[in-house]
Amino acid sequence: MNNKLFAPDPVNDPFGPTPAYSTGLRLDTGVEPDKLVATHCCFCGQQCGILLKVKANEVIGFEPRYDFPFNQGKLCPKGVKRYLQGAHPDRLLHAYERDSSAPGGFKALPYEQAIHRVAAEIERIQTQHGPHAFALLSGASLTTEKTYLMGKFAHMCLKTSNIDYNGRLCMVSAAAGNKKAFGIDRAANPWSDILGAQVVWISGANVAECAPITTDYVWQAREHGAKIIVVDPRITPIARTCDLFLPVKPGRDSALFNGVLQLMIENDWLDHDFIANHTVGFDAVAEHVREWTPARTAQVTGIAEKAIRQAAEWWGTAQSSFMMHARGIEHHSHGVQNVLGAINLVLASGRIGRENCGYATITGQGNGQGGREHGQKCDQLPGGRDLANPEHRAHVAAVWGMAPDELPQPGVDAYEIFRKIERGEIKGLLSLCFNPVVSLPDNHYVRAQLEKLDFYVAIDFFLNETARYAHVVLPGSLHEEDEGTVTTTEGRVIKINKAIDCPGDARQDWRIIQDIAKALGRENGFTFVDPAEIFTELRRASQGGVADYAGITYAKIEAQQGVFWPCPDEAHPGTPRLFEPDSWNLVAQGKGPFYFPDGKARFNVAPYAPPAEDVDEEYPLMLTTGRVISQFLSGEQTRRIGPLLDNYPEPRIELHPALAAQLGIADGDWCTAETRRGAVTLQAQVVKTIRPDTIFIPYHWPGRRSVNQLTIAAQDPISKIPEYKVCAVRLRKAEANGA
Ligand code: SF4
Repeated sequence: MNNKLFAPDPVNDPFGPTPAYSTGLRLDTGVEPDKLVATHCCFCGQQCGILLKVKANEVIGFEPRYDFPFNQGKLCPKGVKRYLQGAHPDRLLHAYERDSSAPGGFKALPYEQAIHRVAAEIERIQTQHGPHAFALLSGASLTTEKTYLMGKFAHMCLKTSNIDYNGRLCMVSAAAGNKKAFGIDRAANPWSDILGAQVVWISGANVAECAPITTDYVWQAREHGAKIIVVDPRITPIARTCDLFLPVKPGRDSALFNGVLQLMIENDWLDHDFIANHTVGFDAVAEHVREWTPARTAQVTGIAEKAIRQAAEWWGTAQSSFMMHARGIEHHSHGVQNVLGAINLVLASGRIGRENCGYATITGQGNGQGGREHGQKCDQLPGGRDLANPEHRAHVAAVWGMAPDELPQPGVDAYEIFRKIERGEIKGLLSLCFNPVVSLPDNHYVRAQLEKLDFYVAIDFFLNETARYAHVVLPGSLHEEDEGTVTTTEGRVIKINKAIDCPGDARQDWRIIQDIAKALGRENGFTFVDPAEIFTELRRASQGGVADYAGITYAKIEAQQGVFWPCPDEAHPGTPRLFEPDSWNLVAQGKGPFYFPDGKARFNVAPYAPPAEDVDEEYPLMLTTGRVISQFLSGEQTRRIGPLLDNYPEPRIELHPALAAQLGIADGDWCTAETRRGAVTLQAQVVKTIRPDTIFIPYHWPGRRSVNQLTIAAQDPISKIPEYKVCAVRLRKAEANGA
């Protein structure tokens, strides 16, 4: 029996044990590697280049990869230690099935037997309850080839509507806002355009901890004289070096953007030619923001009027600028409105589509960009096409060799899948690299629904906290055990190169999916021999779509150090900067520069609404959540890398000294944060870098330390992103841990 497997014990240990972590003993000690493999970091959307040192089918260390232009050899602490995870004793080497009589609740079984059991359960559930009774949850850290295959597997093989992905928790508000304003969902500029900007505006992005290499770009811009504006409820590390800090109350971002736009209009800091020639909708937005006087904006946002005026003047009068944002404005029940408010400032300034004039959202997950383009979203087909659009269905169906009518209609988002489980509409689930027990809000509810499933199969390389609820676990592949493409935060398609083979019975994820299709007797369309063949089909499926990869090849990626999409044919060099007025490919098609039939960008009214759950007498504080530099997302990987865990071993509750004094809490005291959904007891970290009306807890931990016991499952009505960044909470000193 593998002693690292533990099914949940609802009575004694509902959360399961915490994994022991790697001690880092495999630190590179000068051993000569067999080879160096040029690839990329497995963690965030920056996708820094790295050289992995390989010896005897093990990754034993790394070297800086100076030739990759984005990071030029630089890495953050996660990138430096990423190679240690492969040696962890928790690495899944076999398939397992739940067996209450086995120690730990799981017993190993042969891979082929596990595949046949999975196929038999899918067949049984779909025969008894219909095709949509089986759902899939997928990941945005996977290569684009895998995400494409997952969408095809759902829509062609299983013919279920119910597939969604964990980018639902990450990027979808930005994606929806970008599509509404620009007609395309991608960062508008390469990061090199940050360097020459006169003003860099960063809203809701803890850049130095969540996208550390971007700090270098911001600081280089500052060295060149740029003014840096940071908007955040916390004085994050990037805020400590900015020129103007706006300490916004959580959930009030669209109010700030509206107030700044009103000042730009009042002072005529507008690009009238750009607005007239390249946009529509300005008048309605101007009318809407009229009520957002500096005094009202200050009252709603909690930011001093003087600081709002200063930000508006710097932004309004700059000759060049770069606006960037991340989950801080997107993780809200009105996240799309926040994004649209930010874009309105960019469009009003006319500073986009030119050198050093840009806009971007910073992706979170490794393939946060590519993972949302090619069909694993509940309403999407490859190429950024829409599952509900007849023309789009016809194109993809032709590539897949099926009738358009055979494709299911759009399904529901990841959280709604759990509500469908509760209602008995979904009976079976397959997950691939998704850990919703840690990452979804109000996670007591999530666990309860997992227990209701007739059958659940999890594919992963570690037994994550969600997989403990599975009936069958299939051993998938680590980043370095496969090849494929990933699209970075800049929109640059890059190549992940295979460094080692999968150990034991573990398989590359795309092989596992194809094995299930074969065992179902539905292997037609699932006989790819390698990721290159999947990518070749993906290129055809995306051709003519907004996210057009038709002209991208593995060879071109290697030759150019990445290819920016759209890239419609092999002679095309790719498109690093979107929306350039003379963009030849779009003008030739009679479209550009923006991706609407008239080629114009859209202003959108971005009304302010308070958070779904605002403070009151019972719960008088605001809770906001986020990341720390040494951990990544649900922590499945980084909590198993000893040096990273040593850096920040346990989550803490950040609170301001004024609040601490009011509640009688000292630094290091145990205290309990409680919302209407649950409570956590953690040690206090008293810091001056947070608003006194707000507390912060990082979200990388499971079980009793999981802040997602507290967060609210309110979702944005358009993007369906959950409101992780604000809910009402109360705080009290606890007697001891767990009190
Ligand atoms: S910034 Fe992101 S991609 Fe780069 S090393 Fe750190 S975690 Fe990896």
